[in-house]
Amino acid sequence: MLDTVDPNAPATQALIEGMGAAVVLLDAQGVARALSPAMRALIPALGTGKLLTLVLRDPDLIEAIDGVARHGGREVIELIERVPVERTFKIHIAALPGGVWRSPVLLTFEDLSEQRVIERMRVDFVANASHELRTPLASLLGFVETLQGPARNDAGARDRFLAIMREQGLRMARLVDDLLSLSRIELRAHLAPETPVDLVGISREIVDSLTLMARGRDVTLTLRAPAAPVRVAGDRDELLRLMENLVENAIKYGKRGGEVVIDVQDGPVEASVGVRDDGPGIAPEHLPRLTERFYRVDTAASREAGGTGLGLAIVKHIVLRHRGRLTIESARGEGATFRAVLPRFEAQRAG
Ligand code: ADP
Repeated sequence: MLDTVDPNAPATQALIEGMGAAVVLLDAQGVARALSPAMRALIPALGTGKLLTLVLRDPDLIEAIDGVARHGGREVIELIERVPVERTFKIHIAALPGGVWRSPVLLTFEDLSEQRVIERMRVDFVANASHELRTPLASLLGFVETLQGPARNDAGARDRFLAIMREQGLRMARLVDDLLSLSRIELRAHLAPETPVDLVGISREIVDSLTLMARGRDVTLTLRAPAAPVRVAGDRDELLRLMENLVENAIKYGKRGGEVVIDVQDGPVEASVGVRDDGPGIAPEHLPRLTERFYRVDTAASREAGGTGLGLAIVKHIVLRHRGRLTIESARGEGATFRAVLPRFEAQRAG
């Protein structure tokens, strides 16, 4: 009987135990006799001695296993589990030599769930980005046609339309810039930045460059920072971008005539910079989704303020690349505080 597989033999068990993939060996009766560690992790309810079809009660799977056990050969099926969370598996089912009326069966599970989520995100992203570009593009083309036709000789209309067209063109340019920055940051996500960057200096630069914008909404920018530099391990341009996005948002979405406070805090291992406004704040249900690409609480208000919906996604990716974290605290009517917590330069060196 050397040319048959005995599911209970120690050598068979050791072979399956040693496999990296998620594999389970069923005897001719469909009882799990050997499982690889990855299989135990994937479906904890399935243990040695359990009837597989009692744990995974999918009719297609039961039928496929039965067919392979009776007639030999192999089959591949996809299984979607909905409880406790939705998971998609690709299952390879192969008959092994052994048994009389039915043979032992080897099942290999591939977890496609993560791949599916990534695919869905990619499709959504392309759809969103195209939609965001198409709106200003349609408006631009509309005005061009009007200027070529009905408004051909109307100098007043021409000036007005050209101003709007410029606005739409700038909006498309901003969107493309943001998309490119996002993909550049993502490309370098695995390379943590290592140069010392002073958070106080960065904050001061941002306050200087955004004072004019703040004045446009009667907003006072206040910087609270230690006198000495606070150095994090960072990428200067990215940290400037991060602060710019947070302070611009605080000015745009905060209270007209209000105050935006930027505070830099130092610590032994981590340092942080927070941006607080006294605006209308953000309702709790939006907080977890705020850093998603193109997620906006109020789409019209964001567009009105020239937003692309990518600012906070960029902030999140910069913080992640810096091996830091972003916290958002807000309640309706009580303003919002965004804080980037980053590893200290000296701490990173020591570690
Ligand atoms: P946008 O380009 O729309 O500003 P962001 O990614 O920077 O995109 O922000 C996403 C959304 O988060 C904004 O549209 C706005 O609704 C909300 N938001 C961001 N910052 C604040 C803030 N300080 N106060 C209230 N809402 C904010």
